[in-house]
Amino acid sequence: MAAATLDGVSVDTVAIRLRGLRKTFGSVVAVDDVDLDIADGEFLTLLGPSGSGKTTVLRMIAGFELPTAGLIELAGVDVSHLPPFQRDVNTVFQDYALFPHLSVQDNVEYGLKVKGVGKDERRRRAVEALESVRLEGYGARKPIEMSGGQRQRVALARALVNRPKVLLLDEPLGALDLKLREQMQIELKAIQRDVGITFVFVTHDQEEALTMSDRIAVFNAGRIEQVGTPAQVYERPATEFVAGFVGTSNLLRGDVSTAVVGVDGVFSIRPEKIRMVELDSAIATDHRCVDGTIAEVIYVGDATRFVVRLDVGGSLVVLQQNSTSSSADVLATCDTHIRLCWRKEDEYRIYT
Ligand code: ATP
Repeated sequence: MAAATLDGVSVDTVAIRLRGLRKTFGSVVAVDDVDLDIADGEFLTLLGPSGSGKTTVLRMIAGFELPTAGLIELAGVDVSHLPPFQRDVNTVFQDYALFPHLSVQDNVEYGLKVKGVGKDERRRRAVEALESVRLEGYGARKPIEMSGGQRQRVALARALVNRPKVLLLDEPLGALDLKLREQMQIELKAIQRDVGITFVFVTHDQEEALTMSDRIAVFNAGRIEQVGTPAQVYERPATEFVAGFVGTSNLLRGDVSTAVVGVDGVFSIRPEKIRMVELDSAIATDHRCVDGTIAEVIYVGDATRFVVRLDVGGSLVVLQQNSTSSSADVLATCDTHIRLCWRKEDEYRIYT
């Protein structure tokens, strides 16, 4: 297949191609006309709120659900109606689905045993797979003797041992506590880079998606609203939904947008791009400013969120690092009349 570019990411081949993909359950339209190309070796995340159709797309790629309409190609071959075992993909589920009575080594070998792979080769490949998830030496343990994060890696090894072209991961970190989850996000991304397999990862957690992905497909009500790199999706949200779901919704619209920007439109400004200055501060020509009153102060440790009610109507959220201010300093600012400034290049127009 010819070299291509997906949203600025250069790729040699397309591992997964979805065209006009649709799935209905009775009167529920779970997936509605989805088109998506996923590159070989890419880490692509399906991100969206609960019920937006992410898992159903994943299950159709795996073959656990058949599409109502549309096409699924894996490495250029139409697999839309093939059973799961005829597709070169493996799935890692949120609950890991490990066999509790088998050792870690036997859990990882299990799939190869079912396929009739000989004992020596099974052993060797399972050891390799455990090494690739940084669990060398843990083969003799039972799953119950492992931590949540380790069990998650066993589940990953069990999928990797089959050397699939594509790995599908359905909220695989969902059962872990926040600290471990953040650790595993970095580990999982590093493992994916090492093994070079295409990962399709489902999550409803925008930070997780931004941390791990080469590209993100943002889902809403069964449809894709935007596909792009984390920076594109965050800094250049294509729709109001994306602006609100990925990061904090901070929009100027209608009369407020006319008063501040001079145009009746919808503009997104990220909270960390806005600075709070004194009311009489000078305004640089490449900056936009608007005055308002601090209505709420939310201290979150390393940073503070301010909700500022604008004099012209509407409100904006401002995020400031607490590098030089204490919690008492920031909390005392409530009800202060201040000026907000941001670079004009940091306001982004959303065409609705
Ligand atoms: P979550 O993050 O909660 O898992 P999701 O984005 O993965 O959500 P899906 O599980 O794909 O969403 O569900 C999409 C829609 O399809 C939902 O309205 C859901 O209730 C419906 N749905 C999914 N599977 C079935 C099914 N087997 N029968 C009927 N409706 C279903």
